Amino acid sequence: MPESPILALSRLDPVVLLSLAGLFGLFIGSFLNVVIHRLPKMMEADWQAQAAELRGEPAPAREPFNLMHPRSRCPHCGTPISAWHNIPVISWLLLRGRCAHCSAPISVRYPLVELITGLLALAAMARFGATAAGLGALIVTFTLIALTCIDLDTMLLPDDLTLPLLWLGLLFNLWGVFVPIDQAVVGAMLGYGCLWSIYWIFKLVTGKEGMGYGDFKLLAALGAWFGWQALPSIILLAAGVGAVVGIGLMVFRRHRSDVPIPFGPYLAGAGLLALYFAEPISALFQPG
Ligand SMILES: [Zn+2]
Repeated sequence: MPESPILALSRLDPVVLLSLAGLFGLFIGSFLNVVIHRLPKMMEADWQAQAAELRGEPAPAREPFNLMHPRSRCPHCGTPISAWHNIPVISWLLLRGRCAHCSAPISVRYPLVELITGLLALAAMARFGATAAGLGALIVTFTLIALTCIDLDTMLLPDDLTLPLLWLGLLFNLWGVFVPIDQAVVGAMLGYGCLWSIYWIFKLVTGKEGMGYGDFKLLAALGAWFGWQALPSIILLAAGVGAVVGIGLMVFRRHRSDVPIPFGPYLAGAGLLALYFAEPISALFQPG
């Protein structure tokens, strides 16, 4: 019988496995840059098409635009980026952060996202190995990176990312990969429900909106992966760090207190920690 891909990977030398994971992460990071850049634009185009339909007008004509098409271009001069100039991190360094054609500066965020994705993929493999949990850890990590950047850019946490993350968490835990399925289901419900309640209490008391529905869905997804036991630490950590950064922004950069600060990146960061510490946290709740 042919052995499964996971079994074949688990027989690899650890150094080879970790190098492969890091390399894989770098290229996924490059793809995440495309997702971060294009997914919000695709959503906006969808909304415009829907709005036009409601008004009874034909959908605005536009060129096909999705994650695969067209090829990446320089945002400044529009020149398509060749494969040689699209190697994660290395191309950016060789070109000294400039477009090969027009020399317009290219944001340092592109290589940073690639580098962080590579390092976190390596960390996930080092912690979980070539197992189902390792695969789950990669899925969670990649999705949280994309959500963080999109929320920072647009204050949106797209359903196209949060909902599949939620379903996949439940699917993995059908086999108890991270937590038993009952804890995962309760985690998803409580994750959504507790932020939803906080949102409405805050709104009734202050008349302001502190979060968006995307935040509820993201916490539901984290509950689906790591169980309800992980939720208190995720919320405390995200709210604590969020409050410190928020106050810092108001004091040092005169950020107006009525301008919302995205909460998703803090939830995502706390969720990433939960990936590595969910087990000891869950053990705290075990009787005896
Ligand atoms: Zn250019």
